[in-house]
Amino acid sequence: MIDLQRNLSAEEHLLIYWYSVMVENSNVGYENFRITESLIMRFNRYMHNWRTEFYNNPADFEKPVDWDRTRTKTEYFRQQLAKGHEFEIWAQGEFKRYGLDIGGYNSEKGQFAGENKFGIEIKYDMRMNETGNIYIEYSERLKSSQNWIKSGILKDDNTKYWLVGNESKYFIFQKQTLLNVYSRLLNNQKVAECRMVEEKLNGTSKGFIMSVSFAGNIAFADSIGEFVRKADFSDKSKDLYFAFGMFVHGRRDCRYIKGKSDNFLKVFDSLDEAFDMGYHRCNNPNCFL
Ligand SMILES: [Zn+2]
Repeated sequence: MIDLQRNLSAEEHLLIYWYSVMVENSNVGYENFRITESLIMRFNRYMHNWRTEFYNNPADFEKPVDWDRTRTKTEYFRQQLAKGHEFEIWAQGEFKRYGLDIGGYNSEKGQFAGENKFGIEIKYDMRMNETGNIYIEYSERLKSSQNWIKSGILKDDNTKYWLVGNESKYFIFQKQTLLNVYSRLLNNQKVAECRMVEEKLNGTSKGFIMSVSFAGNIAFADSIGEFVRKADFSDKSKDLYFAFGMFVHGRRDCRYIKGKSDNFLKVFDSLDEAFDMGYHRCNNPNCFL
């Protein structure tokens, strides 16, 4: 959204120029291009409609970011990436039903990290139904000729929880629980219904498997509803911002959003993030006190 009240940024100049060329089929060169208020309003309306459609049907609009370097992209990798992304979008939608926005972001590796500000990693387990086990990865490599690097639960990031499974059955673990299982297996201690495995097909992943019944015993929650009830987000609550319509609010009880259901609010933990998404600061003077 372009704000009519202030000067346009360099990026906005380019965006609105491209909009006039691509959407309105203008054929003026940039040097003769004129920006008018009505053009900005048409642009804003176009962006607003795009955003609405995008967020109403993220599974149709959001694309996984594919690798574009000289890496070998096997069909297997592509499928994993696409299916994993689909599951992630699905899980994000489920969290949203409880008023939690766990929107993920893409890492600089061009691979979605599954990381998010709530520290929940989402992992699709393609073979759980077939094998009766879930797979927890701790090491990976891109090709079987390369060295192993830490991944999955050994990756050093802000992840506190691990959601793994598929749309019909999944578990949410505390990452520490999985790390405890890992270190016992590593020290050759027996853990019921768990064992180390190496993914044989491509030789690119190491991890351990755990039976679904054991997973049920040690999981923190086996539904998102249960997770939301048990997890403590209290340390975050003072830093949350709530967006609705075109505005972002600093208080859940701001008079403009007080009566709205959680389902209609988009939650951010920084104001800048909300501004980046195009929301405007609420003009109620009490909203950010
Ligand atoms: Zn407000």
